[in-house]
Amino acid sequence: MIAEKSDDILAQKGLKKPLIIAGPCSAESEQQIMATAAEIPWDEVSIFRAGIWKPRTKPNSFEGVGVIGLKWLQKVQQEFGVQVATEVATAEHVKQALAHGIDVLWIGARTTVNPFQVQEIAEVLQGTDKLIMVKNPVNPDLNLWIGAFERLQQQGINNLMAIHRGFSTYKKEKYRNIPQWQIPLDFRNSMPYIPLICDPSHIAGRRDLVFEISQKAMNFGYDGLMIETHCQPDVAWSDAAQQVTPNSLKQLLHRLRHPHQNDDAPDYLRDIENLRRQIDAKDREILQMIVERMKIASEIGQVKNNHNITIYQPKRWKFIQEHLREIGESQGLSAEFIHRFLSALHQESIQVQNREMTQQSDDADQA
Ligand code: PEP
Ligand code: MN
Repeated sequence: MIAEKSDDILAQKGLKKPLIIAGPCSAESEQQIMATAAEIPWDEVSIFRAGIWKPRTKPNSFEGVGVIGLKWLQKVQQEFGVQVATEVATAEHVKQALAHGIDVLWIGARTTVNPFQVQEIAEVLQGTDKLIMVKNPVNPDLNLWIGAFERLQQQGINNLMAIHRGFSTYKKEKYRNIPQWQIPLDFRNSMPYIPLICDPSHIAGRRDLVFEISQKAMNFGYDGLMIETHCQPDVAWSDAAQQVTPNSLKQLLHRLRHPHQNDDAPDYLRDIENLRRQIDAKDREILQMIVERMKIASEIGQVKNNHNITIYQPKRWKFIQEHLREIGESQGLSAEFIHRFLSALHQESIQVQNREMTQQSDDADQA
């Protein structure tokens, strides 16, 4: 049965919210797995993760220990009484993981991009009640992510969860994989009953940035976090720079604030309603001003048409942008927002002017 809200899937699986998943990027040895698991703060963490088959960018790098690692995960299950998770990328991986009683499987970002592979995985998992997590595809394509869930649902798999791990870019950015928060938030609007968790480790790429991303995810109302945790991160065989020690994980979790979705307290309701009324009034004013701006744009279209002038005037556009960026930035707006806002306005103005010109030439044709 399809759950109604994201809390249902967690509750059904006996998992508390926020759901914290921790463990190393890769299983390296039995000793590393057991030493890491022994230090994980189990009061806060519900699932132990470790990659057994690792999708690596280049050949000849460490590609995972394979099936033997599943036995180490079984040992974690037995000794610590916790659920364990690993990544699967082929039907064979799924069969092996199921045969070893792995509780939770996830489809990695490089697999989500490939509908054939997702279909193959969905078919071997048919009807399973295991929890299956799907990471966002490496490219920022919301429908590809949603499509992977639909393939699983079509095979009767309903215990699903989404992991936001950011999106790759060619340009070097602050983060290893840029978060593009709007995409997971749009995902949540399309599939509100699927728990959404954040993987700050793969977004950050650096351990000192893991906290700020985790906090942002909590502020956006995510259901949990998956944080790569290793007993000796500096010598990890994969993703060394982004893994944290179990002790830093504990500190990070204690520092995290957990805003809640709603509050019935009268002073909160009074303050928020008052501010929302003010913001709604401002939004109406902004919209009205945009309507008036478009009327002027339309008149500009007529003038340009009368004088046979092109609509797009790069110099003028450059001037508007620079001038308003200065004013906006000096009052605390971000340059990126100003750019996006003005671009949207400008595009619409150009279309309005274009309509005006087309209209006038149609009229001329008919005269
Ligand atoms: C991982 O979780 O270690 C991993 C390979 O992640 P991703 O699929 O997000 O790159
Ligand atoms: Mn990793």
